[in-house]
Amino acid sequence: MDNLADKIAGLFENLQRLDFLIGAVLFIAFFTVVYYFLFKFLRGNGAAVLAKIGVPVMIAIGLALLLLSGNSEVNRLFFIVPVAAVLFAAIVYAVECKSSVWRKANLKFFGTKHAVKNFSEVEVSNCIDEIIRALQNMSKNDIGAIIVLSNGNVPERILESGVKVDSAITSQLIESIFFPKTPLHDGAMIINGTKIEAAGCFLPLSQKENLPKELGTRHRAAIGITENIDVTTLIVSEETGIISVVKGGNITRYADSELLRKTLSKFYWQDMNVR
Ligand code: ATP
Ligand code: MG
Repeated sequence: MDNLADKIAGLFENLQRLDFLIGAVLFIAFFTVVYYFLFKFLRGNGAAVLAKIGVPVMIAIGLALLLLSGNSEVNRLFFIVPVAAVLFAAIVYAVECKSSVWRKANLKFFGTKHAVKNFSEVEVSNCIDEIIRALQNMSKNDIGAIIVLSNGNVPERILESGVKVDSAITSQLIESIFFPKTPLHDGAMIINGTKIEAAGCFLPLSQKENLPKELGTRHRAAIGITENIDVTTLIVSEETGIISVVKGGNITRYADSELLRKTLSKFYWQDMNVR
């Protein structure tokens, strides 16, 4: 460790010989870029505060050390402080970092995997009508629901947290599943193509800090899954009957039948890549 610190300090002394000022400016620029990418990477979760506060603090520390640079101990700190700050941040925000890595990996390896299915136009338009009818009936009766529109990219561990259904999509079946006090009403339904794949599934909760107070765990779960994988979720609020659409971590509330039709058409004709 001491060796490493000496090496870093040695490197710094070289930099100083070349031109201390250029070295310092490059150094500050480097950590600003590191923080900028960290911010982009962690956007949408609690760790984004790192970039908001971290970058100005690092620049301030850099400038302060630059002013005191006559002292070689300070020179060493000049390198160690920001490195330690990045490591410290990575430990403090371990959960957020893990969820960002998980999301990136899922988008990279599974997000573009579009199943090419041979559904007929009639079959698809029938599914769209049945899902919209179910959502509107549940909304009228204040029955809570979460439906995930998957193109086969929902991880097995989420499907296994519920019960596999593998049944055709009908509004009666959707409404029965979400009917209060039935065994599968708690949790999310996964629709994969023209099938209800599973129900009663447990989804990861979003850690977003600035959500309106009236959005509880159902809404957090529906938002959380779209932050992790490339799916769309549909929610009916039990408390208010409001229907919402969530995509990429962004929730659109008060979804009317036009928005639902647009969302479902996009799901079937683009995301599912139906031919
Ligand atoms: P509502 O507007 O319907 O009241 P809400 O956002 O206020 O929704 P809660 O009232 O906390 O949320 O809803 C609780 C219900 O949300 C649970 O009964 C369960 O069905 C569902 N839910 C909660 N957490 C999860 C989760 N992690 N995955 C899937 N469903 C969940
Ligand atoms: Mg509630």
